[in-house]
Amino acid sequence: MTLDLATARARDAADPLRSYRERFALPDGILYLDGNSLGVLPLATIARQQEVVARQWGNSLIRSWNDHGWIDAPQRIGAKIARLIGAGPHEVIVADSVSVNLFKLIVAAAALAPERTLLLSESGNFHTDLHIASGAAECVPGLRLEVVARDQLDSRIGDDLNLLLLTHVHFKAGYRFDMAEVTARARDAGARTLWDLSHSVGAVPLHLNHDGAELAVGCGYKYLNGGPGAPAFLYVAEHLQERLVSPLRGWMGHAAPFAFTDDYVPAPGVARFLAGTPSILALSALESGVDAFDGIEIDALWAKSIALFDLFAARMAERCPELSCISPAEPERRGSHISFRHPNAFEICQALIAEGVVGDFRAPDVIRFGLTPLYLGFEDVWQAIERLRAILESGRWREARFAVRGKVT
Ligand SMILES: *Cc1c(COP(=O)(O)O)cnc(C)c1O
Repeated sequence: MTLDLATARARDAADPLRSYRERFALPDGILYLDGNSLGVLPLATIARQQEVVARQWGNSLIRSWNDHGWIDAPQRIGAKIARLIGAGPHEVIVADSVSVNLFKLIVAAAALAPERTLLLSESGNFHTDLHIASGAAECVPGLRLEVVARDQLDSRIGDDLNLLLLTHVHFKAGYRFDMAEVTARARDAGARTLWDLSHSVGAVPLHLNHDGAELAVGCGYKYLNGGPGAPAFLYVAEHLQERLVSPLRGWMGHAAPFAFTDDYVPAPGVARFLAGTPSILALSALESGVDAFDGIEIDALWAKSIALFDLFAARMAERCPELSCISPAEPERRGSHISFRHPNAFEICQALIAEGVVGDFRAPDVIRFGLTPLYLGFEDVWQAIERLRAILESGRWREARFAVRGKVT
C-alpha cells in the first residue's frame, strides 16, 4: 500500500459508501472516531423527532398508540435490526437497556435448566455484564457466577454449565469470538450462550441464526446511531421463545395488556420480554438510526472497516510507533475499532480531543478509535494520525491541563 495523502483521497473518491456520510450531522473541524461509543446524529432524526413530538404527541395524543404505530414500535424496529444480525424478524425486540435485557435473559435461561448451576463469563468482560450477572446469580437459587480468563473458558464448559455470557467483540482491544464455534462448544455440553453484541451490531457481519445463537442483546446508541441512551434490543431464537419467561413481568409483556387481569400470562413470542411502557421518543430516534442502514449491506461496511483499519494500523506504525497496537491484525478476529497502548494514554487522548480528534480512553492505558465506515473516510484517518503526530512531537499532552486524571473533560 502506498501511504500518501493523495492515495487516501483517491480511495475516498472511489468509495461506494462515500455518499452515506451525507446522511449524518458531522460537526466541522471534528474528526469523530468515537462512533462505537456514541454514534453520530442522523439528519433524518431531527425531522422525525419534530414529527413525533409536534404532530403525533402534540396533535394526536393517545390515539397515536394506534394511529402512528407506537404500540408496534418495539417489534417493528426489532425486525429492522434483525436484518443486520442475521435473525428472523420475529426474533428481535427493542426494550430497556442492555443491562436490563441481560438480567431478563440470564434469569430466564437459568430457569430452563435449574440442575445446571454455573453462570460463566470472562474476566475483563464489559463491567455492566459482570455486575448484572452477579446480581442475577444472587436472585436465582443455586446459580453461581464464575468469571475466568478467556483461555480458561474452555476448561469450565461442562455438565454444570447453564449459561455462557460473552461479549462478541471486546470493548477494549476489539477481540472477537467465533460465534458459531463457541456456541457449538457450549451446546455440545448441554449449555446455552448469551451474546452481547454491543460492539458488533451495525459494524461486523453477524449471522445469529446460521451460527446457532440462541440468546443475544445489543446496544442502540453505538454503531446504530440511535442517540444517547437509546433503547437496546434482545434476541431469542424462535425455538426457545415459548419456553422462556421474563423475570420482569410488566404489563407490556403480557398476552393481553389491556385486559387488566390479575394473572400474568406471557405474550406469545419475544414480546414477552417487554416490561413497562416503551419510550416512544427514544424509539423513534433509534428507528431513524437503524433506517440510516437502508440499502446498505453490512458486508460492504465491513469491507470498508477492514480497509480503514489497515490504513490506520499502517500509518500509526509509520508515524506514531510509540503507541503499540493491541487489536488483532486478522479481520475475522476483531471488531470495527482499533486500540493502542501507551503509558500516558489518558493525557494523549485528552490532548487529541482538544485538537478535534475524538477517540476515547479506556483505563488504564488504552486509546481506542472507532472506525465507522458509514461516515468515516480514508482522509479522516490520515488527518487524525497527522494531528496525533503533531501532539506527540510538540509534547503538548504533558501540559498541566491534561495531566490531572479525572479533572479534565
Ligand atoms: C455499551 C455496552 C453496554 C451498554 O449497556 P447499557 O445498559 O445499555 O448502558 C453493555 N455491554 C457492552 C459490552 C457494551 O459495550
